[in-house]
Amino acid sequence: MNREIELKIVDLDCPDCAASLEKGISRLKGVKNCSLEFATGKINLSIDNQIIDREKVIKEISRLGHVAVDKSAGGHEVSETKGRGSLARLKDILLMVAVTAMLIEIALSVFDQPGYLQIIFSVTAILTGGLFIFRSAFYALKNLTADMNLLMSLAVIGAVIIGEWSEAAVTIVLFSIANYLEGRSVRKAHRAFKSLTEQIPHEIEMETADGPQRVRLEDLKQGDIILLKPGMTCPTDCEIAEGTAYINQAAVTGESMPVSKTEGDKLLGGSINTDGFLKARVLKPFSDSTLTRIMHMVEEAASRKSRLASIVDRFAKVYTPIVVGIAILVFAIPVLFFHGAFETWFYRALVFLVISCPCALVISTPVAVICGLTRSARGGILIKGGVFLEKLANVRAVLFDKTGTLTEGRFGVVHVVSLDGHSSDNIIALAASVEQFSEHPIAGAILEHARSMKIKPFESRDFRAFPGEGARAQIEGSQYTIGSHRFFHDSDITDVELHKKVTDFEDKGYSLVLLARDDRLIGAIALADMAKSESAEAIAELYQSGISESVMLTGDNARTAESIAEQLGIRHVESQLLPEEKSKLVQKYREKYGLVAMVGDGINDAPALALADVGIAMGTGGSDLAIEAADVAIIGDNPKMVPKSIKLSRRTLGIIKFNIVFSLLVKFIFMILAGLGLATLWMAVFADMGTSLLVIANSLRLLQK
Ligand code: ADP
Ligand code: MG
Repeated sequence: MNREIELKIVDLDCPDCAASLEKGISRLKGVKNCSLEFATGKINLSIDNQIIDREKVIKEISRLGHVAVDKSAGGHEVSETKGRGSLARLKDILLMVAVTAMLIEIALSVFDQPGYLQIIFSVTAILTGGLFIFRSAFYALKNLTADMNLLMSLAVIGAVIIGEWSEAAVTIVLFSIANYLEGRSVRKAHRAFKSLTEQIPHEIEMETADGPQRVRLEDLKQGDIILLKPGMTCPTDCEIAEGTAYINQAAVTGESMPVSKTEGDKLLGGSINTDGFLKARVLKPFSDSTLTRIMHMVEEAASRKSRLASIVDRFAKVYTPIVVGIAILVFAIPVLFFHGAFETWFYRALVFLVISCPCALVISTPVAVICGLTRSARGGILIKGGVFLEKLANVRAVLFDKTGTLTEGRFGVVHVVSLDGHSSDNIIALAASVEQFSEHPIAGAILEHARSMKIKPFESRDFRAFPGEGARAQIEGSQYTIGSHRFFHDSDITDVELHKKVTDFEDKGYSLVLLARDDRLIGAIALADMAKSESAEAIAELYQSGISESVMLTGDNARTAESIAEQLGIRHVESQLLPEEKSKLVQKYREKYGLVAMVGDGINDAPALALADVGIAMGTGGSDLAIEAADVAIIGDNPKMVPKSIKLSRRTLGIIKFNIVFSLLVKFIFMILAGLGLATLWMAVFADMGTSLLVIANSLRLLQK
């Protein structure tokens, strides 16, 4: 029987070690489909129960030189820090000894002290600085893989063979320092995305029968009432049960302006109560809150490789063997055919071995991706993988759904037209009777209007919704239909008076629905929906950032759509669309422009979102379905997050490209220098270390405010 398990490696410092560890585990008997992701340390594999079990796998991993913890066993955070702790301390001490020994050795050589003393300190530095490297090299060798530990060990052993004690010591110690610094900066990137939830306290005051009591977040259950004082962060998704306050939701939605919330309003976990005293009812346990889920998703996203990352990985896999091959040729050809001096060319070959380590190159992409994803998550933009980061950066056209995306999506009835001797109240009553079973925002507005006018809907039967068109139901033996122009065909409005009124309303940007009994129009309702205040700016920013086209898609009629588009500065409008026509248009724009993003409110625009290269769900407010369905989820409902996410993706992609080119360039320069005999071993290590650190630092810039 095969079983899927998930473990976490807590001491991964370099992508290369991750690759060789993955290979090592894959080789174990009874293990299949092992995949280890460097970015998160997560390792998924399926095991054959009869041959191997979880504990055995963990043991094997520690034999391969790494510490694994069981993610499913609970309380892994504790064992994670402990697991890292003791090993990390040992590594730190060894590194300190190695550095000291190396410095003494250098001092000795400067003051021309006896050679045997220099050798003693060199050996000390090599052994302490290289212990873990040699160990990993040994496992790599056992696994028949050539990772950088092996290459570095060979280079150092080679240097020792030709008597370059000091070179060997400096090389290995620099390499250890590089590993140490690299591990630290990579962990910094990891911590940054963990910090998404770190601002949340571990305990909270809860109302109980015996007064307020402190409880741990994990113990909160749905329905519990928690107390939020001014300045406190709401730990999980709640609903305000008592009180009013300005809430800062920046951590979840990226929106820094506090909004006023009161009884009945939803509080997302991670939002801060700035000034009021609130009692809040827990809606979701902590483990299931929006913020916790965002974190999991970012983590998952980070482990999905982008196209560039896969190319880099593939390249790295052939790069190393090729350069090792060059190293052998650099040594063999001059020595065998041109009477080259053994030591000179052997040394140059060793430098090539060091250059063949692809570390900076391999690290160039994943760290930037983690930082980019973390940065956008902090702003309430959830990008579901490096792939979408890349696509977003290259988007040519952005299609927007109108209602709820560019507009508030909250309609209000502004006018009622009645025909055939019906009263306005009667029209509202009939419309409300049909709409009482509909989930459409227009239906909501009509029902709300009826309630406020104290108009009671009639009983209705056989309700049927026509998505994007309207709805129909039976009331007292007659069939009533409500919906858009298109639903009734424009030409059916023969009443001149009505036609004029309708057109007037539409030119003002009102949405209009018609009501008919059987085949006869009996009334019309004009509804207003406000454009979001940020929509126009968002569109302007998109055009400024060089997007070829922004388009508004809507099921609403042409005149209304044009009027709103004009307010927003959108040049292209596609109106009177049925949901399936929206998807067809996505296809059309893809052919015309290339990469296309579709922004919608998530649920009813699902097919179009799925068809676009990047589906952006907006205003998800933590709704599971919408977050799950989209490629990019914007938690708040600010359309300006769309240009923001595109800019951020472009910046991230720019950093990734720079990193790749820069690390390749440094390697290339060093190959030439090494061939000419101008580069020493330690210079090559130093350059590699410098490049790695620079590439990481460049990526970490994404996290700065
Ligand atoms: P949008 O594309 O703007 O999100 P929809 O596709 O949901 O709009 O609806 C398109 C049009 O169909 C609406 O503008 C409205 O005229 C009509 N319509 C759809 N459902 C209903 C309904 N339940 N009641 C009245 N009109 C409706
Ligand atoms: Mg819609």
